[in-house]
Amino acid sequence: HADLAMYEAKAKGRNTYHFYNQELNAAAKERLMIENELRIAIKEQQFELFYQPQVDCQTLEVVGFEALIRWFHPTQGMISPVKFIPIAESTGLIVELGEWVLWEACRFAKRLDEQGKGNNISINLSARQFKDSNLKALLSSIIIKTGINPRSLHLELTESMLMGDVEIAINQLHELKMLGVSLSIDDFGTGYSSLSYLKRFPVDILKVDRSFVKDIPQDSNDMEITAAIIAMAQKLNLNVVAEGVETIEQIEFLKNNNCFIVQGYFFSPPLAEGDVAGLYQQLALKKH
Ligand code: C2E
Ligand code: MG
Ligand code: MG
Ligand code: MG
Repeated sequence: HADLAMYEAKAKGRNTYHFYNQELNAAAKERLMIENELRIAIKEQQFELFYQPQVDCQTLEVVGFEALIRWFHPTQGMISPVKFIPIAESTGLIVELGEWVLWEACRFAKRLDEQGKGNNISINLSARQFKDSNLKALLSSIIIKTGINPRSLHLELTESMLMGDVEIAINQLHELKMLGVSLSIDDFGTGYSSLSYLKRFPVDILKVDRSFVKDIPQDSNDMEITAAIIAMAQKLNLNVVAEGVETIEQIEFLKNNNCFIVQGYFFSPPLAEGDVAGLYQQLALKKH
């Protein structure tokens, strides 16, 4: 029996190793595929920006949009940014892609403006873009050439991007603020930022991460955390946006805790530009 047990353990070990290897291979293959396909996708412009509204839940006015990139691969269909942004980041392709996102989103904002629907546009920056010494010059040129109001341009950063070399990050934030743009901390509460730094970061907006919102009102810890983030933001004179709001109960909870700007499927998923006009009509209907 003892021998058999040992034999079985060995076989299991081999199998785990075998599976582990196979999984690694599959992951590595997918990565390589995405990396190669990304280069082609940039050349062939397979990307589109979608826009998710941020809504004031007291007035039902759209107060802004977040630009979210979509990759429509000719044979594989939609590939999620969660999959390809990290690869674009590690290969450096994000610099070119991110530049396209900035131009495209600002041109969209300008078109809205021209239709009398002037609104804020939030754009996600990647770590590389944030560190890039050309970022300020690029933004300045985009602001001038598109003619958008820099105040309506909201740049979304994450805690991990700010926490590496904090002094350098604070410096870069001040440089960006000089352009007149607004700065947001995205996915707030999921990173490992130190609260003592928060007041030194010249940021304007905290976005409460969806992970805290999604189990309201079932999870009382999440409710406490969300309420605490909102209260802290107010004390620091920051605006708050709640992400991933899907239900009326979540809206009620957020309203009762003084967070009025929400983004999430409750009002709308991210939309293609062609569907944005319909959104305004829908919200107008709800109002009356
Ligand atoms: P994020 O910036 O935190 O964006 C919010 C994500 O939550 C989006 O996913 C959005 O579609 C999703 N979402 C919004 N409301 C709801 C909701 O009610 N329920 C659920 N379940 N999800 C909701 P998406 O578009 O897949 O983007 C994922 C992440 O990819 C973004 O997270 C952002 O970190 C990154 N990303 C997207 N576009 C860009 C981009 O242009 N540049 C960079 N650097 N990153 C981007
Ligand atoms: Mg974001
Ligand atoms: Mg987020
Ligand atoms: Mg997120």
